[in-house]
Amino acid sequence: MPVKGRCHCGAIQFEVGEMPAELTSCNCSFCVRRGGLVAYYKPGQFKLATAPSRVWTYQWGDYLVQHHYCPVCGMGTHSEMPGFESGQPDFDNPRIAVNARLFEDTSWETLPVKHVNGREDW
Ligand SMILES: [Zn+2]
Repeated sequence: MPVKGRCHCGAIQFEVGEMPAELTSCNCSFCVRRGGLVAYYKPGQFKLATAPSRVWTYQWGDYLVQHHYCPVCGMGTHSEMPGFESGQPDFDNPRIAVNARLFEDTSWETLPVKHVNGREDW
């Protein structure tokens, strides 16, 4: 069942194909400050429901990941990145990391959370 999400002010709204099986919490220098709980999707499972021009983007480090956020209320909404399953960037298998804290009318709080040590691994 599709799940809708939105930033605090509603300027950015989106939909994902289904609830994830688990969420990811990362402690890298970016994620620990953003504070999101991430659900990973393939690009076809994520749909922006508002104009792309409403979405602002932050990049840092190796500039492989586009971290999107709302310029009005500041919520980090989603990030676009290549796959990293092999340890190297895989541009043929991109992923969207969605901040599951923005899901509406769901019980994401009950999902298991996988902790990734991005502080040392990234
Ligand atoms: Zn907003």
